[in-house]
Amino acid sequence: MGLRRDMLQFPGGRQRALTFSYDDAVTQDVRFVDMLNRFQLKGTFNINTGLLGQHSLHEKNGKAVTHDKLLPSQVPQVYQGHELALHGLTHLDLALAGQAAAAYEIAADRRNLEEITKAPVRGMAYPFGTYNDGLLALLRCSGVEYSRTIESTGSFKLPRDFLLWHPTCHHGDERLFALAEAFLEPVQRYDGPLLFYVWGHTYEFDERGDWARMEQFMQKMSGHEEVWYAANIEICDYVNAARQLRYSASGQYIYNPTAQDIWLWLDGRTVVLKAGETTDVNE
Ligand SMILES: [Zn+2]
Repeated sequence: MGLRRDMLQFPGGRQRALTFSYDDAVTQDVRFVDMLNRFQLKGTFNINTGLLGQHSLHEKNGKAVTHDKLLPSQVPQVYQGHELALHGLTHLDLALAGQAAAAYEIAADRRNLEEITKAPVRGMAYPFGTYNDGLLALLRCSGVEYSRTIESTGSFKLPRDFLLWHPTCHHGDERLFALAEAFLEPVQRYDGPLLFYVWGHTYEFDERGDWARMEQFMQKMSGHEEVWYAANIEICDYVNAARQLRYSASGQYIYNPTAQDIWLWLDGRTVVLKAGETTDVNE
């Protein structure tokens, strides 16, 4: 017998997950969330609570496009069923700001969002996508469990460090549909979970006039039994739970100390490791 290779599966034994991450809480998010809901997809929205209600107009591609932010009172209803995450109180560049200013931007945004969610807010996207070692250290003691960069990987790998969560691609990426094909392609031999992570700003659909392209993408990606449609934090929580599994020396007994059931692929079969239980995987 060769070495057993244990590979994670997503909840329900699914082998793929799709998630979206959109920044800045602009009014175009209303239309975008409506599309997500129609296709039963899930997203994460990164909000600068200190900028809510502000108006601005930007000229792009010869078009004037609003970057108006939602009103604070609209936030709970617009994003219902999706995740709210941090983006800094006022979109300050946290890698350039002093530590004290960065700490304030994070904590104040967090407190404001938690007033809305009535639960701990644990996710973030870096304003301008910038970070450095000092900022990472600050996040580790600020209760932030993941933070998204803007460095597209073009791959479906899970992040090693959730504080450096690099997305698959921006929605405007010309590879978007080719990646979708590759992601949905049936696999001959399971080689680990695939995560398709799309990010952007919804005002970009107005700038490029390509709402229909996004709708086409969502339609293509929706309704697949083997895809887990999840917000960022659900994926982070699940993978972090799996990383806490305790193995016996033989690998036969696996203890799941977490509150989540975990699905593993063991040499051609799926084993469910129940929350809080030790499983004999040879049984
Ligand atoms: Zn932003």
